[in-house]
Amino acid sequence: MLRLGVQVSISGKIYKAIDRIVELGCNTMQIFSRNPRSFRRKPQEKDDLDEFVKRRKKADINPLAIHAVYTLNLASYNKRFYRFSVRDFIRDMHDAHDLGAELMVTHVGSFKRSTYQDGIKRVIEALDKILKKSPPSVTLLLENISGSGHWIGSHFSELAYIIDKLGRPKNLGICLDTCHVFSAGYNLSEEEGLNNLVTEIDSLIGLDRLKLIHLNDTRDTLGSKKDRHWHIGEGQIGKEGFRRFINHPKLRTVPFILETPKKEETDDTRNIEAVRSLYDGRLA
Ligand SMILES: [Zn+2]
Repeated sequence: MLRLGVQVSISGKIYKAIDRIVELGCNTMQIFSRNPRSFRRKPQEKDDLDEFVKRRKKADINPLAIHAVYTLNLASYNKRFYRFSVRDFIRDMHDAHDLGAELMVTHVGSFKRSTYQDGIKRVIEALDKILKKSPPSVTLLLENISGSGHWIGSHFSELAYIIDKLGRPKNLGICLDTCHVFSAGYNLSEEEGLNNLVTEIDSLIGLDRLKLIHLNDTRDTLGSKKDRHWHIGEGQIGKEGFRRFINHPKLRTVPFILETPKKEETDDTRNIEAVRSLYDGRLA
């Protein structure tokens, strides 16, 4: 069965996010559990959390993914900020657990002002601490990124290296973003590019660790290292690229989350419709 959701806002009361996702007719979702561009944390009221859990259960939304905030960096060269990032990430993992979330998605981090080797070492130490101090019910997913600047994780070999170094723990997996994959040089608009990608993930990491897919088209050219999400089928990956991708036997059972632009009120419904129309229910 198609598991399709959208990144939705939690503005107002957090449980309103469930109403938004129900209105869109989705059966999975992704949210930020707090303001993604702020350092401040404001705990949710107990009643609001209970209401969130209750409404989600009724609506049968599965899985629930939380996207980590942008203000933490698990590869930071700055010792103080690095410690702060690890500490707050652990707190966010506990908050995710309180919300009943199964998945926490994060970008790996930036090694700016230091070396790649030092950066990836810090990431591994950070993740080790985080996984040991977090509720095991929340699986941490490393998301591939487009590869600009000093960011770690544009190739699956890097994610595989981190997962291996950590001893392949059960509660660590990956999230694949189609826009980032394309920007990093994997050609999803062609059948060969898609097959190479799936083979690479399976041999390096194992497809069983691929727990979530961010479905986004892109406005940028192949290998551009840029990160500009676009409407499904209207960008460089294109309709046929997405048709092949979402019906691929190894990918079609993974939950899909749209992070496409929301300029017009109808943008979400348009993208949801685009995915539904490309998904071949007869294969299920
Ligand atoms: Zn993404």
